Amino acid sequence: MTSIDLLGPVVYRDRACHGVDQDVFFPNGSEPKDIRRAQEICGRCPRLAECAAWAAPLVRSGALTDCVVATVKAPAAHSNSDRRRRRDAAADQLEAVAAYAATAAQAKGAA
Ligand code: SF4
Repeated sequence: MTSIDLLGPVVYRDRACHGVDQDVFFPNGSEPKDIRRAQEICGRCPRLAECAAWAAPLVRSGALTDCVVATVKAPAAHSNSDRRRRRDAAADQLEAVAAYAATAAQAKGAA
């Protein structure tokens, strides 16, 4: 297991959330403007692919909840009976973000 598996994106000093108040990523409730603020920060992060790949299994398992990570809103831990489906949907989104961001980074490097 590498340090990124244990610590996640905090190991990256160039991450866009470095130095940003972490409350931004744990918005109270589901106010669209608060969620968008966090998503905009993630959207310009050079570590988006790594972060999304790290977060996907954690969101799927329910270990990471009620936050915005890698542009995706992870559902609340106490959401109702369809919480498994919502976690899976968020994890699927994170996997798609990881794949897209990795491809975009490769294309940028090749340009
Ligand atoms: S994608 Fe978002 S949460 Fe992940 S390291 Fe970047 S800014 Fe932080």
